[in-house]
Amino acid sequence: MLEIFQIPVLNDNYIYLITDAKSGKTACVDPALHDPVIEKLEELDKKLDFILNTHHHNDHVGANLQLQKRYKCEIVGNEKDKARIPGISIFVNEGDTFKLGDSECRVIEVSGHTLGHICYYFSKESLIFCGDTLFSLGCGRLFEGTPDVMVESLLKIRSLPNNTKVYCAHEYTLNNANFALSLEPKNNKLKKKIEQIKTRRSKGLSTIPSTLGEEKILNPFLRFDNDAFIKSVGLKKKSNVENFKVIREMKDNF
Ligand SMILES: [Zn+2]
Repeated sequence: MLEIFQIPVLNDNYIYLITDAKSGKTACVDPALHDPVIEKLEELDKKLDFILNTHHHNDHVGANLQLQKRYKCEIVGNEKDKARIPGISIFVNEGDTFKLGDSECRVIEVSGHTLGHICYYFSKESLIFCGDTLFSLGCGRLFEGTPDVMVESLLKIRSLPNNTKVYCAHEYTLNNANFALSLEPKNNKLKKKIEQIKTRRSKGLSTIPSTLGEEKILNPFLRFDNDAFIKSVGLKKKSNVENFKVIREMKDNF
């Protein structure tokens, strides 16, 4: 069993601490800053065994070296990103598995936001740490990858079970929801979801994790092949990649 602790930092980042309950082994996903991580570890009376990085951006790897120096932890990242992930010591590739005590995750490569971006999927626990690839009701900007690569990546995530909890790295949900509603002003499920999001945010609560089942129904970036959605947005029925590209451009200008 895994215990998960969410640490909000900077404007809208989430760092995660995950502990395998049986062994006590602990990992940190995408540490942007070191102080809040150390504070949480001390509160939990844990040492840090691993850092799991999804990609090389500074708001995901910024505290790698300080934490490694303090805890002598191993740092896991995509082998392809070894020149860009500070302190990387365990190199993984698509399909590799990684054990945190008794819990095991699978590495899924999801290039698009960056080249070599990876997710950590814990199938038994039904959860995924997906960094800046899939957000609740959104997806990451394409800084390094092309739309076809991103579509392939999103389809990999979409193929996972509906009960998968989606632990993304940013609290962008309300803005994403407003964009989604601009595409589908009559979508009642979306309107209801926005009310829930607003209620949680007004109390300072996180909207993450969401579930993949909900994302499949409401996230515009997982619906590029849904005829009714494409029609409602006013897109022509073209390829997945072309439709995704248009929706992504609309969001970039939203
Ligand atoms: Zn990023």
